Amino acid sequence: MTDAVSLITAKRDGRRLADDDIRWLFDAYAAGAVADEQMSALLMAIFFRGLDRAELRTWTAAMIASGDRLDLSSLTRPTVDKHSTGGVGDKVSLILAPLVAACGAAVPQLSGRGLGHTGGTLDKLESIPGFRAALSPEETVAVLASAGCVICAAGSGLAPADRRLYALRDVTGTVESIPLISSSIMSKKIAEGTGALVLDVKVGTGAFMKSLDRARELAQTMVALGEEHGVRTRALLTPMDTPLGRAVGNAVEVEESLAALRGEGPEDLMEVTLALARAMLDLTGLDADPAAAIADGRALMAYRTMIRAQGGDPDALLALAPHIRPSLPAPATGWLTRLDALAVGTAAWRLGAGRARKEDPVSAAAGIICLAKPGDWVHEGQPLLELRADDEDRFAPALAALAAQDGVVEVSEHEPPPPAPAVIEVIG
Ligand code: URA
Repeated sequence: MTDAVSLITAKRDGRRLADDDIRWLFDAYAAGAVADEQMSALLMAIFFRGLDRAELRTWTAAMIASGDRLDLSSLTRPTVDKHSTGGVGDKVSLILAPLVAACGAAVPQLSGRGLGHTGGTLDKLESIPGFRAALSPEETVAVLASAGCVICAAGSGLAPADRRLYALRDVTGTVESIPLISSSIMSKKIAEGTGALVLDVKVGTGAFMKSLDRARELAQTMVALGEEHGVRTRALLTPMDTPLGRAVGNAVEVEESLAALRGEGPEDLMEVTLALARAMLDLTGLDADPAAAIADGRALMAYRTMIRAQGGDPDALLALAPHIRPSLPAPATGWLTRLDALAVGTAAWRLGAGRARKEDPVSAAAGIICLAKPGDWVHEGQPLLELRADDEDRFAPALAALAAQDGVVEVSEHEPPPPAPAVIEVIG
């Protein structure tokens, strides 16, 4: 028989936690016998001391066991999902889920809402009139069976321990821990019941992981966790130094996703989406060409079917912001070599596209269009961004976010930036 203080002091002093102790901890926490302040202290000890591979496996299994698992066994297609660690302008899920469904897989995409400078897939989809993100487990499986894909909120029954732990981490400075991030993400994905999983681990100024080394370590940890729990898992490290595509916001990202589904998306967005689609199809063993599914309209058809199955009107006009302001003049004539993702993401958030607290509402219409991207030739004074807002008062804080740091924009008169690879590295 153990107790919370023994586990906290053991981890504080750099010792391992036994499997039985971890299981006891989660049961006792759920029963109210371990207090939030004790769990917070343990999370801080883990932040500094880490969890080894066996501890992490048991920790993640205990988080999964804290709730239900979605039962996808009635589906006849192989299941595969994608998770992104989050970026600016990252609307890939909206394109990828129907695209991979059109290629023969079932894609159960249980997603989250945006927080801070990164947008959330559900916020984007909720800019479509009628779209419902909150589905029961039965509805989730029914949409998957009929449309081949579903993008909905992870219900409160999936890994409920993660929700409580994340709330503690958020207010105790313990979010940025690789074992805690990995177990948080993977417990939800494993509980979702997918057979295979592709992780899009973003690296760069607009990403959770700013350095390649940290992103690689996170990717390796999550791939190992997935495999240990019987989920075929692969990670792609992809760049996030500048927004993905040109649109950053909610309705504007739905519009850009529709363009991508018609084969008319910006090159960086198309490349990363196709790379992720190929990895997902490879893990399921399906021999299909995702580029062909875009070219012949099957991916767009799957998108429309999914939106309708979730109550949305795929033909409805999306919200258009009443106030539009060209901003951020190019400082010189030459090649744009830098347009910082974090600054653009923060500005879109200030315009109303994102939220500071998870209960805050977001604006459907607010956001940013990048009028130029790194690699483009620009002229001094030319606006690089178009800001969109529901209310003119939003422009000043957005402009302040763009002015708050040096190096948001860089222009070279001599040479274009080296081409950014769509995928930096593949793990697993
Ligand atoms: N996303 C999650 O779901 N959990 C984390 O800990 C960090 C990002």
